[in-house]
Amino acid sequence: MTTIKATCPTCGEVELTADDLTLMVCSQAPLSYYAFRCPRCIEEIRKPADDHIISLLVSGGVRATNWNIPAEALESHDGLSISYDELLDFALAIERTDYLAALADHAFRA
Ligand SMILES: [Zn+2]
Repeated sequence: MTTIKATCPTCGEVELTADDLTLMVCSQAPLSYYAFRCPRCIEEIRKPADDHIISLLVSGGVRATNWNIPAEALESHDGLSISYDELLDFALAIERTDYLAALADHAFRA
């Protein structure tokens, strides 16, 4: 079996076989990546895979899995991002809704 050399950020160069690598080819090319568990530190390493890397890995016997990114994830969003306070308000509102729902449920059963 072909030996594939990859680099772990902690351990440096490590030797793997095709079965040790996962290759995820995305419909949006910049999001394609490959992953492996470093045989020395057991850390899961994930790295971007461009066309060159994809063809190298495939020729080394790594099976490619195709995946699609949901269209919503590619939408551009305007406006401010949600703040912690808003999230807290939302959580509290949900709790109140549960409380109201419990009261309503109780009322219907009575
Ligand atoms: Zn490592």
